[in-house]
Amino acid sequence: MDTQCNATPTRLGFFVGTKRQDSRIPLKRLIVFDLDGTLAESKSPVDLEVLTLLNELLGIVKVAVISGGDWPQFEKQLLSDLPSDECLSNLFLLPTCGTKFFLFDGVWRKLYSEDFLPMEKTRIMKSLKNAVSSSGLKVENPWGETTEDRGSQITFSALGQRAPLKEKAKWDPNFIKRKLIKAALEISIPEFSIRMGGTTSIDITKAGIDKAYGIRKLRDVLGISLEEMIFVGDALFAGGNDYPVAEAGVDSISVRGPAETKPVIEAIVACLSPASRNGIKAAPTA
Ligand SMILES: [Mg+2]
Repeated sequence: MDTQCNATPTRLGFFVGTKRQDSRIPLKRLIVFDLDGTLAESKSPVDLEVLTLLNELLGIVKVAVISGGDWPQFEKQLLSDLPSDECLSNLFLLPTCGTKFFLFDGVWRKLYSEDFLPMEKTRIMKSLKNAVSSSGLKVENPWGETTEDRGSQITFSALGQRAPLKEKAKWDPNFIKRKLIKAALEISIPEFSIRMGGTTSIDITKAGIDKAYGIRKLRDVLGISLEEMIFVGDALFAGGNDYPVAEAGVDSISVRGPAETKPVIEAIVACLSPASRNGIKAAPTA
């Protein structure tokens, strides 16, 4: 964990703005988490301990989770084991970097989805096909479909969506193949954002879509200022996909995986619990 956070309530008070700290620091009203590499290991379910802590956090403050992944990944990794109770109304989910926004009012409801227009999709698909074949990198027998339409994001997976991790790991470890395809796409569809992700994939979105975009969506929809948020993520370094959030001015805590996220949540709970905010030491639980 970096020096920003030693996961103790005292140090985190700086971020959380508790009464015990500088009163000029706004009290935090929204805690935002990255999903893969922060709440869960990559593409894996959130473990029980993190789920329990999250549920505790949801009892006292609004929480959002933002990821480049699509809604089914949230269902699989996060929601299937999270207790379905009234606390869920404090949870906001932003798949594909906030181009979709889900909230809970008895059931999970999609507030909006900023999808590509049909003509944009056609143009992207055609450009992808041309870029892959002109680069000579077309895989003849992929494991499943190579393009996935996520509504607001089109993802190209060179070996197919069901390719074994072992095969994916050795296909393009140094990004050389994907850089070729990306370079061709940047010429044919310059109006879109083209990014390399995962091990074999290329993500295409509208320009300007990153996690800072999602953060601004949270600000606008929930009416919570950036100063009242804390972000927790594993890729806050320059060039990482969480970096735009810190750059946008949100107090950010860097972690190296769910094991480091746990004490961060515990500390935030300790700082934000009503007893702490009133300066009253919480009674130890039995
Ligand atoms: Mg991550």
